[in-house]
Amino acid sequence: MADGAYLAFVAKVDAFAQLAHAGQAAYLRCEHGCDGCCRVRRSAYTVEADRIRRHLSTLPLTQREALRRRRDRLDESGESKCVFLDDDGGCAVYTARPLICRTHGPAVRLPDGELAWCELNFTDLETADVSTRIDGSTILDVNLLNHTLAVINAQYIAGTDRPARSPLAAALDPVCP
Ligand code: SF4
Repeated sequence: MADGAYLAFVAKVDAFAQLAHAGQAAYLRCEHGCDGCCRVRRSAYTVEADRIRRHLSTLPLTQREALRRRRDRLDESGESKCVFLDDDGGCAVYTARPLICRTHGPAVRLPDGELAWCELNFTDLETADVSTRIDGSTILDVNLLNHTLAVINAQYIAGTDRPARSPLAAALDPVCP
């Protein structure tokens, strides 16, 4: 299973996300340490989870053990928070994070045609005014992103019995003792 198509798509999405952040900067509060988008338990496509596993396998053993303990604590407490969210609001797998995490914050267009954004952003505008204030070319089409990622993932797992998606925390299993 090669993930070249996924890595190429990640590079495109990152470039678009940069454009979106620049084009909508006047209305965004995104900054390091803001974890508003990470207080949720996410799932990921298998091609994304495998990239995270490879990243985790490069971390020191002590760091991987700490992540496993964090997952156990979250499971016990039931807290709704991503296992990779560090105490300082950073992401323990930042360079390998899933695509949805790379598009957090700015306004995006949902499959039903509506715009959505992090509730911490655009706080100075009425909801109805957002679409009139930002350049449409900076708005990510979530449907296109999801469809492209699903196709890439389907090709990635073709011929295997692996599931299309799994909880993000499951990426810890084979690499974090
Ligand atoms: S993987 Fe990283 S960026 Fe994504 S939700 Fe978890 S902590 Fe946040």
